[in-house]
Amino acid sequence: MAPTQVEARLPGRFDRVANVLVMTVPLLLVGFAAWRAWGGALHWTDLVVLALLYTASGLGVTVGFHRLFTHRSFKTGKVLRFVFAVLGSMAIEGPLIEWVTNHRKHHQFSDASGDPHSPHEHGPGLRGAVEGLTHAHLGWILVGDAVCEPARYSKDLLADPIARFVDRTFLVWALAGLALAFALGFGLTGTVAGGLTALLWGGAVRLFLLHHATFSINSLCHYFGRQPFATGDESRNLAWLAVPTLGEAWHNNHHAFPTSARHGERRWQVDPSWWVISLMAKTGLAWDVVGVAPSRRVAKLAS
Ligand SMILES: [Zn+2]
Ligand SMILES: [Zn+2]
Repeated sequence: MAPTQVEARLPGRFDRVANVLVMTVPLLLVGFAAWRAWGGALHWTDLVVLALLYTASGLGVTVGFHRLFTHRSFKTGKVLRFVFAVLGSMAIEGPLIEWVTNHRKHHQFSDASGDPHSPHEHGPGLRGAVEGLTHAHLGWILVGDAVCEPARYSKDLLADPIARFVDRTFLVWALAGLALAFALGFGLTGTVAGGLTALLWGGAVRLFLLHHATFSINSLCHYFGRQPFATGDESRNLAWLAVPTLGEAWHNNHHAFPTSARHGERRWQVDPSWWVISLMAKTGLAWDVVGVAPSRRVAKLAS
């Protein structure tokens, strides 16, 4: 058992440098991609690879890291647990156990002292709002001042061989996601140049878009939007973010019923991650899917 996975720890210098690189390199390459696209170097194959890998690694985070591993909102077999853990790692939002630990802590302290990424409590006025939103969006990752306590919040995953293995080999899966972008591009075009532009779009551009979609849950979905449920925190539903976040932007619903597998609880609330879980349940690949009893729903409605 690696001691760093068990002890509470502050991110070290290596973590901070890695976090800064993971934020800035895709951003610079997005600029490069835009310039190349302007010059006519963007092919339909690049967009196919981008869409495929955005959806796969995005669902790895939303269905896998979030609904399966963090909140245990459904059960599935070992192979799919492994697959979702790997796909989530390809999103390069940190190793599985660290991600889950930070997110469980967020739910425990939601917008109060101890929440690793609340946009609130950063002072009054416009300045406090801007500072808070910046901190919640990516400041908390770049500054790296959130203590990660897996032994306290993720005992179940520390005892789970699949979660521990994928967590320990995070870098392999992160790089495999980039290699897959190149391989898909190469396979679709038959040229190395096609592989490289697919790597640009299915790698850097995908990571940039996916990261900011996820970050927006922590920042925008605790600041702007509707609060149909009385959750005692600042979580909100932000409809326009539902598609890029694959259904996670129904964030007030989620804070009201954290273990529910379905975040878009109304028929019109688009929730692609729920569609995947629902399909898995119908085909026998998921079971013990957690829902919300109508009486609990009514009891939580904001007056
Ligand atoms: Zn939240
Ligand atoms: Zn959650």
